[in-house]
Amino acid sequence: MQLTAENYYSNEANREYMSVSQFKDFYGTYGRLGCEFTALEKLEERWEEEETTALLVGSYVDAYFEGTSERFKIEHPNIFKKTGDKGLLKDYVKAEEIIARIERDEYFMKYMSGQKQVIMTGELFGTKWKIKIDSYIPDVAIVDLKVMASITELKWVKDIGYLDFVRYWGYDIQGAVYQEIVRQNTGKKLPFYIAAATKEKEPDIRIVHATDNYLQEALNVVGANMPRVLRVKSGEAEPDRCELCDCCRHNRVLTRPISIMDLTSGI
Ligand SMILES: [Zn+2]
Repeated sequence: MQLTAENYYSNEANREYMSVSQFKDFYGTYGRLGCEFTALEKLEERWEEEETTALLVGSYVDAYFEGTSERFKIEHPNIFKKTGDKGLLKDYVKAEEIIARIERDEYFMKYMSGQKQVIMTGELFGTKWKIKIDSYIPDVAIVDLKVMASITELKWVKDIGYLDFVRYWGYDIQGAVYQEIVRQNTGKKLPFYIAAATKEKEPDIRIVHATDNYLQEALNVVGANMPRVLRVKSGEAEPDRCELCDCCRHNRVLTRPISIMDLTSGI
């Protein structure tokens, strides 16, 4: 299957290729548990994740820098008010502010100057992978643009403690896989940067270098867990249910009571 901008996110592409977001669906990240059951339900088209405003705001900013804003607006009429001046909803007015803030910074813009939404494929840990790079500067850098709530606020994770946003959301995994697939395609191991911008009242902007020591550790985590992911994806192994997510709740069939102990077993 030849991947294009049109079929990149299709189920057919997801069945043939592994991607970072699919790996995170199955396995999770340091911060968030995956759900094998939901990951499979999505592949089988029995479950669809809701398109959240947070995701759409990110896509809006991506589209701007890709130069595809007009098409994005046509394809997403729900980002406009239905009454009054029919202008952008407030989340997208904020997105416009974020874009203006980014454009005011020459250094940030250098990182955004690469080829946009570049698709590459490769092979890793026994399966084919697909990646899509926000800003690819050949021979120089791999850049991923992220719009988020806060760059500096840490996230509390049980058994680990406070985590930075990079590892909480598994952007270290993304960097590791992108770096390796780019290396397979070009022979060059390039640094991975997150071009981060926030939705705060006064937007914050930073270029975060996810250094190779973190990427190596993340790649080890992927490698250690891929055999299980592939067995579940191919149907050789039964998927585990996290029992916490929307999809698990939706598909819950009661057969017995649980005990008070069960309610605290996660602690
Ligand atoms: Zn679940």
